[in-house]
Amino acid sequence: MTIQKIAAGEVIENPASIVKELVENSLDANAENIVIEINNGGKSYIRITDDGDGIPKDDVSIAFKRHSTSKLNNINDIYSIMSLGFRGEALASISTVSKMEILTKTSGSEAGVHSHIEEGEVISSDIVGCPKGTTMIVKDLFYNLPVRKKFLKSDISEGNQINDIITKLVLGNYEKSIKFIRDGKTILHTSKNKDLLDTIYTVLGKDFANNLIQIDYKDSYIRINGFISNNNLYRGNRGHQYMYINGRSIVNSAISKSIENKYKSLIPINRFPIFVLNIDIAPGEIDVNIHPTKQEVKFINKDRVIGTITNCIERYLLSSCS
Ligand code: ADP
Ligand code: MG
Repeated sequence: MTIQKIAAGEVIENPASIVKELVENSLDANAENIVIEINNGGKSYIRITDDGDGIPKDDVSIAFKRHSTSKLNNINDIYSIMSLGFRGEALASISTVSKMEILTKTSGSEAGVHSHIEEGEVISSDIVGCPKGTTMIVKDLFYNLPVRKKFLKSDISEGNQINDIITKLVLGNYEKSIKFIRDGKTILHTSKNKDLLDTIYTVLGKDFANNLIQIDYKDSYIRINGFISNNNLYRGNRGHQYMYINGRSIVNSAISKSIENKYKSLIPINRFPIFVLNIDIAPGEIDVNIHPTKQEVKFINKDRVIGTITNCIERYLLSSCS
């Protein structure tokens, strides 16, 4: 049990990492509508409700076991992975450091199941009526790890980190409806089937949405689309640089730096451009396997990726200035 709890700490640092893992599961399950509710910065209560595929009744207890995933059929699938999860660690980890409840129903079954999970084990299960989809409830984070609990930040600070994670998820999945309720108050509610610019407007505000240039580039190797700053829109840090590879939010300082250098060479300003960039590339061209939280992605052909992105940005920036 101790080993499990320590290992859990690597994936589950704080409430925001729980929200990220659970919403990614909803997205992997083809949900169209996702509701995220938190209380006290997610420390006491997190609930994620989706209308996705659900989990078959007999698979519920398996889903909470370490290294159980329904997303890889064999080890070679790791090279063609399109789902956000694949390690089968999140539910196992979260359930060892909190009190969890799941309510889930697949479209094929008549009734759903409602289970309580503690210390990674299903401790009760009832058959219930519920709509298709899954609700996950996470209560009392780190109730059994007082030292880790003490290191959580204030409710406001933990809640703000959840807000940042949700912003990333919403911008990367603008065709879905996502609702965020914080301490009983609806903070964000995006509708289904809107476009990226509408979503930027809703999430980041009109000053952003009105000062962006749309880019859309495609060749046989890569597709790059999204929005980049025009010459009026800059920030003091990288806080508003959103990058997605095949729908996965990533951080890649080499790409950010090359984009920033390109801006500096074209527009004499020493601040940080803003962008929301979706990069689509064959899964075999990336390696998402380097870090458990999967934020940093390695490219097989990094120079080609960076070269194409920066050339593309240069072309769009120059044509918008002329
Ligand atoms: P991973 O996402 O890496 O497969 P997780 O521990 O996050 O591992 O989830 C374990 C399994 O539980 C998933 O592979 C999936 O089959 C199932 N699962 C988890 N959340 C959901 C959900 N919201 N809807 C449907 N299935 C889910
Ligand atoms: Mg997962």
